[in-house]
Amino acid sequence: MVKIQEWVEDINERARTKLGTGRVADYIPALAEQDANKFGIAICTNEGEVYAAGDAQEPFSIQSISKVFLLTLSLRVYGNELWERVGLNPSGMPFNSLTQLEAERGKPRNPFINAGAIVVADRLVSAFATPSKHLRDVARKLSGNESILIDARVQESEWQHRSRNAAMAYLMKSFGNIDNDVDQVLHSYFSCCSLAMSCVDLAVALNYLAADGHAQAMGEPFIAPDLARKINSIMFTCGMYDAAGDFAYRVGLPAKSGVGGGIVAIVPGKLSVCAWSPALDENGNSVAAQYALELLAEEMVRQQLGH
Ligand code: GLU
Repeated sequence: MVKIQEWVEDINERARTKLGTGRVADYIPALAEQDANKFGIAICTNEGEVYAAGDAQEPFSIQSISKVFLLTLSLRVYGNELWERVGLNPSGMPFNSLTQLEAERGKPRNPFINAGAIVVADRLVSAFATPSKHLRDVARKLSGNESILIDARVQESEWQHRSRNAAMAYLMKSFGNIDNDVDQVLHSYFSCCSLAMSCVDLAVALNYLAADGHAQAMGEPFIAPDLARKINSIMFTCGMYDAAGDFAYRVGLPAKSGVGGGIVAIVPGKLSVCAWSPALDENGNSVAAQYALELLAEEMVRQQLGH
């Protein structure tokens, strides 16, 4: 559809007016080196067409977007048993908060805050010999891109600056909610966060959430339709850090963002989209990528109304 290509090109131009607003994440030093002037957007329709503009082919650090893959893989192995370890509600706290974890006896509010993803990573360490390689291979299959890599520099940088995540992991271990060795779990978690993928890779890879669990590049079902629906619901309520409510109001789509500046959003039954630009707002969400998704949502409403 020519129209969608026109949309992404128009969004690319308009979202770039936001460049210069926000700050690149620097609490992981390797991320601080990112060029704040990058912007890319890619859409993958459920028919398998891909539309892209700007820096959409450039790999970036997917960071917390990996929590969607972690959750999917873990639910495939453990099903509802997973919810004994991690909750399903928005946290109303920063993504790396320790206070709530202490008050709630080591059970994280949801799988998209750091503590929740660390618990999910622990589950995967119990299930797979090398969970991060498994996740990388799944990301390759889902995106149809065999060259996807874990960025060793980012991974090492996260490890060197792990104090807060390590504190959460040890706190959860003290409550019996981490089974494996904490260092091993953290290594797995950081490796997954350090996957480098482009907007095109992510839009294609996560299209299964738009397509009732059917994986575009694999040409086969990846998860059950009901599971796709449930993961979308968690993204809707918990995927945008502390700003999930603001984003739901502005955009109204299930989404997951990462401190690398990427945001993936899902239009169930229609398409998946990834926008990326490294500079973040005070909640840790990319300024330009959020704006791009807002523009897309507005455009889709206009189309539906036939304007
Ligand atoms: N690896 C990052 C951390 O653990 C992920 C944060 C994010 O993208 O939200 O802090």
